[in-house]
Amino acid sequence: MKSLFCDLAPLCAEIVSTAQRAYRSGLMAGTSGNLSCYAPDYNCMAITPSGMDYSAMTPEDIVLMQLDGTVLHGIKPSSEWKMHAEIYANLPAVHAIVHTHSPNATAYAVLRREIPCVLVEMLLFLGGSIEVADYAAQGSAAVGTNCLPILCRKPACLLANHGVVTTGTTLEQAYTNSIYVEDAAKIVRLAMSTGYPIPATINEEGSKPYHESISV
Ligand SMILES: [Zn+2]
Repeated sequence: MKSLFCDLAPLCAEIVSTAQRAYRSGLMAGTSGNLSCYAPDYNCMAITPSGMDYSAMTPEDIVLMQLDGTVLHGIKPSSEWKMHAEIYANLPAVHAIVHTHSPNATAYAVLRREIPCVLVEMLLFLGGSIEVADYAAQGSAAVGTNCLPILCRKPACLLANHGVVTTGTTLEQAYTNSIYVEDAAKIVRLAMSTGYPIPATINEEGSKPYHESISV
């Protein structure tokens, strides 16, 4: 499988550098979170390894595997590889996934509340509000299955009681989306902490009162 790794080495290097950027940006703590890319021409997913310190990670540590779990290069993929595989298997336009437990967005995931669309970047880059996928046990394919109804429409969602998933056609796009999700969560949280109610959400047509846009 040496030739496969040689072919995908630039992708593996990009995954390592992006993971380290995400770690330095505070999107991931410890060894939590995971990133992947899918190379359809090779039927191959490249994903961060299980439980490895991001600062020590090298391109050779990235695991190359098929979506059925067959490892082609590397030792042990992230424990959440089934979620990534499920998304790639069902959403062919997705070529990169970033999964984090970024704190502000994950606070909304714990509350199982969507992050309302109150910022223009959310409309432009995230397709509007950031919705919450139903809970599934960590490590199961169901985590990915439960994201599909949202990720077929938008490039980001929250995982109930868990974290954040963002997608892209490139890893850079998926990473930028993960930054926007955390930024949106932080800004909404700060706005709500003033005690003033959020007056409106926005959509393509304009804005509408926030209380009309939420269903409790
Ligand atoms: Zn996770």
